[in-house]
Amino acid sequence: MKRSVSKRLYEEACKVIPGGVNSPVRSGKAVGFEPLFIKKAAGCRITDEDGNVYIDYVGSWGPLILGHSNPEVQEEIAKVLDRGTSYGIPTRIEVEMAGKVVEMVPSIEMVRMVNSGTEAAMSAIRLARGYTGRKKIIKFNGCYHGHGDSLLVKSGSGLMTFGIPGTPGVPEEIVAHTISLPYNDLPGLRQAMEEVGREVAAIIVEPVAANMGVVLPAQGFLEGLRCICSEYGALLIFDEVITGFRLGPGGAQHYFGITPDLTCLGKIIGGGLPVGAYGGRKDIMEHVAPAGNVYQAGTLSGNPLAMSAGLAMLKALDRGGIYEQLEKKNDYLCSGLEQAAASAGVAVTLNRIASLGCGFFTPDPVTDLESAAKADTKAYAVFFREMVDRGVYFAPSQFEAFFVGAAHEQEDLDVTIQAAYDALKVVKQKCECGL
Ligand SMILES: *Cc1c(COP(=O)(O)O)cnc(C)c1O
Repeated sequence: MKRSVSKRLYEEACKVIPGGVNSPVRSGKAVGFEPLFIKKAAGCRITDEDGNVYIDYVGSWGPLILGHSNPEVQEEIAKVLDRGTSYGIPTRIEVEMAGKVVEMVPSIEMVRMVNSGTEAAMSAIRLARGYTGRKKIIKFNGCYHGHGDSLLVKSGSGLMTFGIPGTPGVPEEIVAHTISLPYNDLPGLRQAMEEVGREVAAIIVEPVAANMGVVLPAQGFLEGLRCICSEYGALLIFDEVITGFRLGPGGAQHYFGITPDLTCLGKIIGGGLPVGAYGGRKDIMEHVAPAGNVYQAGTLSGNPLAMSAGLAMLKALDRGGIYEQLEKKNDYLCSGLEQAAASAGVAVTLNRIASLGCGFFTPDPVTDLESAAKADTKAYAVFFREMVDRGVYFAPSQFEAFFVGAAHEQEDLDVTIQAAYDALKVVKQKCECGL
């Protein structure tokens, strides 16, 4: 496969962009691969600058659940485009968008739009602190909540991929109020809460952890979080930036039947444009300025282009039928990948839910960061590169999810499974990760 144009662009990029990319995991460093530069995309296929075509399971890291260049979303963007792109003055579409989010997500009574998942999580934490008058927050190892200072502690993929423990540039004093505990460990959490529970403003969690690969909440874990938060007067924040509109129209909170106090949204909610949001109970949200005194603002927040893409996306997803299909497709793909691994004699543990999945190169169950970190990242790197050479693009890191979308057809899944079998045979030859 010829990749000379991507190679040249990468060299140029490295001169003017740190590491040549605008977000670290894209660089392919973790899997020994120079990034592809993408020229265009439609449906489940991306085309690089050299004209190679790949079946895509990254989907812009989650947002494109309906596939690339979805006509319904594109049309709505086009309609808004010739009326101007941003005013910084309220518009009709923001009201409609907020109404739609409130209608779809069970626990959200009021919502504020921002421009990214990072902003959503940062703002939700500030609000939780402002509302409770407490300082401490609890998060879980391997959960990622964007790159806000106080949340960059044991935060999954980006840092894991590059072996960076915390990060320079975040003073200790700032993370001194952040406690990070093992995912799925309720006894550990109870113990921590017995010590500092009355100082905890919020517990923030990915209801399905999807930034250390995919790790499902153990039976009773989310229920336990809800009880503990209520007991200690701390807010429960669900970071649904990935699970929102992915596990179903009502996200993980509807899927598992748990009601958080605040919810962070991102990715799918923008329909492929930069959008994030945080929302929740009215009495809490009314503390946000100008209704209340917790300050949070954004020049481009709620801008009509982003809102039109997001609203078109949410409307399409809310029409129904789509999630059952997605789950069937993902089941088919995951069973196929499991069979391919077994036939090739490679130990893979496949975690999956709805249209999310991750194959860990380890024979053992993956239930938290510690078990995820046991995966053989060298084996994944070989697998990734062999798949790209066969025209299938998974994420360039062991610790990321793959995303099945409405645009993946049966045929694409079959091609993927066959490619995986061939790639896994190479993995078997090159790595010691047999059954
Ligand atoms: C991607 C992600 C974020 C950060 O969103 P950005 O839009 O990249 O800032 C936050 N939380 C979770 C769970 C995410 O997956």
